[in-house]
Amino acid sequence: MADIALAALTKVYPGGVRALDAIDLTIADGEFFALLGPSGCGKTTLLRTLAGLETATSGSVVLGGTDVTALAPGRRDVAMVFQDYALFPHMTVTDNIAYPLRIRKVPGGERRERAAETAAELGLTDYLARRPDQLSGGQQQRVALARAMACRPRAFLFDEPLSNLDARLRLEARTFLKRLQRELGVTTVFVTHDQAEALALADRIAVMEHGRIRQLGTPAEVFRRPANTFVASFIGSTPMNLLPGTAARGAVRVADLALPTPDGLDLADGEELTYGIRPEYLTYHEAPTPGALGGEVRVVENLGSAQLVTLEGPAGPVQVVVDEDTEVTPGREGHALPRADRALVYRDG
Ligand code: ADP
Ligand code: MG
Repeated sequence: MADIALAALTKVYPGGVRALDAIDLTIADGEFFALLGPSGCGKTTLLRTLAGLETATSGSVVLGGTDVTALAPGRRDVAMVFQDYALFPHMTVTDNIAYPLRIRKVPGGERRERAAETAAELGLTDYLARRPDQLSGGQQQRVALARAMACRPRAFLFDEPLSNLDARLRLEARTFLKRLQRELGVTTVFVTHDQAEALALADRIAVMEHGRIRQLGTPAEVFRRPANTFVASFIGSTPMNLLPGTAARGAVRVADLALPTPDGLDLADGEELTYGIRPEYLTYHEAPTPGALGGEVRVVENLGSAQLVTLEGPAGPVQVVVDEDTEVTPGREGHALPRADRALVYRDG
C-alpha cells in the first residue's frame, strides 16, 4: 500500500488540449479519494497518468515514496478498473481474474488458488467457469474488481466503475465497494461525474474543472462550504440557489429583501455578490413571511419523500424542498425562508 503525491502534474495532448494543468495533490495511504467533475475536466487523464497509460507532459507522480513518473504501467503496482470493465470475452472468470498473475509469471497452481480466493471474497465462487457474456452487469463488475485485487496492488484506480449499472444495482455496488475498500485498506482513487457517489464513498474529494482542482475537502466540507459557485452548483442532489445581490450592512440585498448572512463575513457595502442557499435550507410558507423570498409556484416535482418547488419571484427562480405532507398548488403564491446559518456568499459568481 502507498500514498500518492502529484506535483505540478501537467498533460497537454497533441493538438493542444491542456487536460491537466499543474495539479498538486497528495493522497494518503489507505485513503478513499474521489476525483469529481463534469465530462471533459480531466479525470480519466489524471487516472491514466497515475497508471502510466499516459505520459505526463511535465510534473511528477510519486507512489509510496518512489518517483514512478518514467516507469512503465506494469512496474507501478497499481490496478485500474475501467468503466466498461474490459474483461476478456473468450476467457472464463477464473482466467480473467488470474490474468494479471499470469503476466507476473505466478505459477499456474498458485494462480488458480489466488483467483479462487479472491473470487470467494467477492461472492463469485459459483461463476468461476463462466465467460463474461454469461454474467450480469453487476457480476461482470465484480470480476473486474477481483482481477484488480488478485495481484494485491498498492493502489486501486477506478474510472467510473459503477456507471454502467442500473440505478438500484449501482447503490448496492457502491455500499459493497466502500465496505471492501475499508476491509482491504488499499489506497483508492475513484473517478466519477456523480456527486452523490463521491459524497457517499470518499474520505476526501477533489472537484475538478478544466484540468484544475477547484476544491479539495471532505464530503462534509465540499457540501457545506463549497469554495466557489462552480463547486456550489455541482455538489448537491438539487442545485443550489445562486441569487445575484449586493452587500448592505452585513446582509445581502436580493431584490427587495435583506437576507442575513452567517456571522463573521466581511462584506463591503455595495459589493456585488452571489447569495447561495440550498433548496434543503429554505422553509416553505404559504402565507407571506418576513424575510422570505416570495413568488408564484411554477413547478412542483415529486422527490419521493419530499417535493422540489420552484417559485418565480422578483429575485428570479428559487427552489425549495418541501416535505411530502404539505400541499403546494401551482399558480399560487409561496414563500421560502432561508436559514441564515446555511447561507453562503460568493464573489466569483
Ligand atoms: P473526463 O474523464 O473528465 O471526462 P478526459 O480526461 O477524458 O476527461 O479528457 C480531458 C480533456 O482532454 C478533454 O477535453 C478531452 O477531449 C481531451 N482528451 C482526452 N483524451 C485525449 C486524447 N487521447 N487526445 C486528445 N485529447 C484528449
Ligand atoms: Mg472519463
